[in-house]
Amino acid sequence: MKSFLYEAQAARVIFGPGEIKQVQTELEKISAKRALVISTPGQEELANKVSDLIGDLCVGIHAKAVQHVPTEKVEKALEIVRALHVDSLVPIGGGSSIGLAKAIALNTSLPIVAIPTTYAGSEMTPIWGLTENGIKKTGKDLVVKPKTVIYDPNLTVNLPTLVTVTSGMNAIAHCVEGLYAENVNPIISLLAEEGIRALHSSLPAILADPYNIEVRSEALYGCWLGGTVLGSVGMALHHKLCHVLGGSYNLPHAETHSVMLPYAIWYNAAHASKAIKSIARALRVEEEDVAGSLFDLTESLGVPTSLAEIGMKESDLDQAAELAVKNPYYNPRSIEQRAIRKLLEYAFTGKRPLKGIEIQGEINS
Ligand code: NAD
Repeated sequence: MKSFLYEAQAARVIFGPGEIKQVQTELEKISAKRALVISTPGQEELANKVSDLIGDLCVGIHAKAVQHVPTEKVEKALEIVRALHVDSLVPIGGGSSIGLAKAIALNTSLPIVAIPTTYAGSEMTPIWGLTENGIKKTGKDLVVKPKTVIYDPNLTVNLPTLVTVTSGMNAIAHCVEGLYAENVNPIISLLAEEGIRALHSSLPAILADPYNIEVRSEALYGCWLGGTVLGSVGMALHHKLCHVLGGSYNLPHAETHSVMLPYAIWYNAAHASKAIKSIARALRVEEEDVAGSLFDLTESLGVPTSLAEIGMKESDLDQAAELAVKNPYYNPRSIEQRAIRKLLEYAFTGKRPLKGIEIQGEINS
């Protein structure tokens, strides 16, 4: 076994159908008296539900969160926080609501009680993100990590298919890259493999029966594990590529993760044999076909499988490859621009990863 450092981060997680009812007790535990409930405009109804549950502890609802946390939205939210003398934040929804709460906490150190309803995993991490003039900045600060996370599968039954599958693939991506992270350790590997298993088994079952609480719970459990992995170890090529594609070409976050994951695995497979073994066990497929099997999964779930489908322009592929090799993250295989350009070409057209053949710059098939 290789040497490793394992550092656990404090986390309080309440999990189960109907557990949203615990939100008031959780706020009282941190002595909160003036909570601001945060959501995206589409999830205002859920925000109202939280407000009803916490009664007098709620001083306002801010249903204005949007993707990628633009700084002007943070400034507006900070004005409200100051005007209402807010002492705690309760984001409900996906990474956009939780992202806005984190950005407020970064400026104010206010505690967060998060109620996630997608599978993106932000609630388990100390990672914040902000977009200013079209440029996304990220950083890590424990002050933004929620004090309590309430996972209530009942809140996820209306999650649209596209968000269910693509945010679920986002969580699988955290697990996959955690398995070959530079600072991987045996505990995180266990969580990552189990997270992939849970999401891989639950996503097709959700599509067949979206209101089935058992399978919705399994997916939320997988998302918790994925978020924990993301918050604990470094990410690699896949996250770098998604960062470039989302940041520079404004591609949608979760869909980009969903499209790119099979290709990032394909690129790295021959250089991450231990990780590939774990992923193959979790997916119950042969090691040689891990990337192809994940491609088949997204295809069978009916979500986009190519960059072309989610708005990428072929004429931008050269520049994207250049950007992807700048300031690279740690990756098990060295980042070669021609091979990355080839990877992007495959991802652009949505070609199924080839079994047992490594992506090289010169492959043209
Ligand atoms: P999102 O929060 O934008 O939600 C996607 C859509 O789903 C929104 O329209 C939302 O209103 C809707 N939705 C949410 N809950 C719903 C429900 N219960 N029923 C019906 N609709 C619902 O998207 P996301 O994929 O959750 O998060 C993406 C964002 O999170 C990105 O900005 C990404 O960068 C960030 N993120 C951050 C981290 C981190 O650790 N900081 C981790 C993962 C993702």
